[in-house]
Amino acid sequence: MDRRPAPLYGAYPSDAAEIIGQHLASGLAARRDSSPVTVFFRADDIGVPSAAFSRMIALFQEKQAPLCLAVVPAWLTQNRWTAIGEICDREAPLWCWHQHGWAHRNHQKTGKKSEFGTARPGARIRADLSRGKERLQNIMGAAFSAYFTPPWNRCCPEALKALKDLDFRGLSRSRDSQPQSRTLQEMMINVDLHTRKEPDSAGCLAGLAAEIEQAARSGSIGIMLHHQRMNEQAFVLLDELLDMVVLQPLVKPVTFKDLFPSD
Ligand SMILES: [Zn+2]
Repeated sequence: MDRRPAPLYGAYPSDAAEIIGQHLASGLAARRDSSPVTVFFRADDIGVPSAAFSRMIALFQEKQAPLCLAVVPAWLTQNRWTAIGEICDREAPLWCWHQHGWAHRNHQKTGKKSEFGTARPGARIRADLSRGKERLQNIMGAAFSAYFTPPWNRCCPEALKALKDLDFRGLSRSRDSQPQSRTLQEMMINVDLHTRKEPDSAGCLAGLAAEIEQAARSGSIGIMLHHQRMNEQAFVLLDELLDMVVLQPLVKPVTFKDLFPSD
């Protein structure tokens, strides 16, 4: 797993939060209707407790900001789930524990990485989704919610069909993911905090600020987190970003469960 912080957090501009705040405000101001803009935070690659994981959880608890957590079934054990219970109330409405890829493994021989792509037969895809759900339900009990985040934000039509058959309520991928699902609710990510591809700090900040403005204008902000790649500066920015959205009356922090309840 790549644990390097994105360049933004290496040469961190002191006015990063201010610039992001300005772009958030511009996006909100450009909206035509006055209904609140929803924002969800989605933390990927969950299952192994660590210092960074504890710190991320503590920050969301302190701000009382909700967080959707995509858990890798093969990584989560009963002991690890118990350890997570020692740092937070796992059944609090703040959290939406849901399913990530079975083992977070790429199965594509060529092209973009995917665990649930076209390289594998549908039966194998279905089996991994099914055993993942069963394992998380067994370990987490009522704390588990049947939503799915595919690794690398992508999955094939067979996976979409299997998710529907397995009674998942929705899935979370990147904006403009294809194919779209006609039967499952989609909770789109449109802001990437920690796995940005720009080669330098200024490029990262410009890209991030533009994503936030565009997302706010669209009425629905979905922010992706990767705690394994967070350094001190990444925690500083997340702290400030949480303040911005929690204190901003035009923005409503939610989880998948608030957006698409089961009943
Ligand atoms: Zn992942």
